[in-house]
Amino acid sequence: MGQLHVFFFPVMAHGHMIPTLDIAKLFAARGVKSTIITTPMNVHFFQKSVERTNQLGFEMGILTLEFPAAAAGLPEGCESADQLTSDDMFPKFSKALTMLQYPLERILDEVRPDCLVADSFFPWATEVAAKFNIPRLVFHGTSFFALCATENMRLYKPQREVSSDDEPFLVPDLPHQIRLTKMQLSEDERNGSESDFIKPIKMKESELSSYGVIANSFYELETEYADYYRNVLKRRAWHIGPVSLCNREVEDKAHRGKEAAIDKHECLKWLDSKEPNSVIYICFGSVAKFDDSQLYEIAMGLEFSGQQFVWVVRRGKSEEENEKWLPEGFEERMKDKGLIIRGWAPQVLILDHKAVGGFVTHCGWNSTLEGVSAGVPMVTWPAFAEQFYNEKLVTEILRIGVSVGNKKWSIKVNNGVRREVIGKAVRQVMVGEEAEEMRNKARGFKKMAKKAVEEGGSSYIDLNDLIRELSSYQS
Ligand code: UDP
Repeated sequence: MGQLHVFFFPVMAHGHMIPTLDIAKLFAARGVKSTIITTPMNVHFFQKSVERTNQLGFEMGILTLEFPAAAAGLPEGCESADQLTSDDMFPKFSKALTMLQYPLERILDEVRPDCLVADSFFPWATEVAAKFNIPRLVFHGTSFFALCATENMRLYKPQREVSSDDEPFLVPDLPHQIRLTKMQLSEDERNGSESDFIKPIKMKESELSSYGVIANSFYELETEYADYYRNVLKRRAWHIGPVSLCNREVEDKAHRGKEAAIDKHECLKWLDSKEPNSVIYICFGSVAKFDDSQLYEIAMGLEFSGQQFVWVVRRGKSEEENEKWLPEGFEERMKDKGLIIRGWAPQVLILDHKAVGGFVTHCGWNSTLEGVSAGVPMVTWPAFAEQFYNEKLVTEILRIGVSVGNKKWSIKVNNGVRREVIGKAVRQVMVGEEAEEMRNKARGFKKMAKKAVEEGGSSYIDLNDLIRELSSYQS
């Protein structure tokens, strides 16, 4: 039996590429040869980490497939989800993803790895792997809770029973009483139709016929849902997270995803000058787009809260001259209190700093789990995808956060959430008895997270079991 060789093929979106890279590193650290499959414009997001992993003596590499941007009707060079600026670009992106099937087949034929870990956005990957007689593992990139809730929504369609968009309904048959409204669902889910971008039926079929699912979570965090997913929904799954905890050095934490818009030393120096738990961190991931007026309210809300903050605003430098989202004189007034990062932030580096005592998040699963791993209470502000489910996990099941009260599913965010509401939610997680209670609970989860990935922990053991099983499949 030779060295196990695994292909890792994430969809071209930072919320998927970042955790997949961490997963590939975890496999490499256990002696597996890990190869990332991506497209040319995305190589540089992986390059540094791959080099560092190789320097540590582990085997890791990158192979590329051409991304058919032009053939799918996208501008040349548009190769990742954060570049999709209008609604009509999503189906085109989806078409391009489908077109990656044959290039992947060619590369599998050439290299003949022992296993394919492919994103759930590639439902055809199970069949492709079968052609080469290798197992395909699915990576969804979300919580067990969201996977269970989404599946039960798909099975029972409770949204059909309500007469208006804002009437709550129960997500059926879950261990907790979780209520949502139609407004918090995507348009396709609301109408019960199959979307062009996310293909739930194909995804489900592909998942059921695959070898199993890799989950970036840990058993102690969502025990009932990890069990429900396996025992009730009958999925084979291995939980191996939080995968971001494999980044232990400043260097690793500071270089995840894009190049940060702030120097890591400058960022740490600013945080070092602050008291423990005195800074709130605000960031809404790599895709959600907050419009000027909502950003303006956030600025006013932060000022209103009286708290110190690090606020990540995904606005490029070219727009800097006319920053309509920034209240007049705001930065001057907040000079000692707040740091605005325009562009990409070294998120895990910031969250893990002792000065950070709270997180305003859009509830993307990576951010949520990074917040849990850092032991900070959260203000939840979901925008789209499965983020409304993750919000419920944080606020109603784990009880380590408060909702800002967004009621509407949308990638483009202007929920009209007022400054007073934002300011109040920020204070609620930062100061007072309730904040302290949530922080203590969050710290408990942080400890459990660390333990889960250490030798002998639940995630450590599950990863070992998975690798052992794949090795025996290989022989
Ligand atoms: N991220 C980061 N800096 C930023 C924005 C995002 O490092 O300025 C990282 C974040 O740590 C997380 C990922 O990008 O690992 C975003 O994934 P998530 O699932 O939270 O949200 P998405 O971007 O998919 O909406």
